[in-house]
Amino acid sequence: MIVGDVTADCASCRELGIDYSNAKSCSKCSTVFRFITSRNAGKLDKNRGGTVKRIKERRPDLTFIDYEDYKEITGKQQAREFFK
Ligand SMILES: [Zn+2]
Repeated sequence: MIVGDVTADCASCRELGIDYSNAKSCSKCSTVFRFITSRNAGKLDKNRGGTVKRIKERRPDLTFIDYEDYKEITGKQQAREFFK
């Protein structure tokens, strides 16, 4: 899921307003969350350190990935789907 300012979105169906501090899966598409990233934790974001720390403290069970890496991964997946 992708953390915004207050709540998070589901990365698979784009459901909005997910409470990232305790959601285990998406209420809409039932995707079980395993990874977490944040739009506010880009590599050039000056508050990145604090944002990453806050998310990891709230969700130590999830794997934090950089937003740039997330975009690269999903970009590749979409490319693969496209060329099927
Ligand atoms: Zn979903």
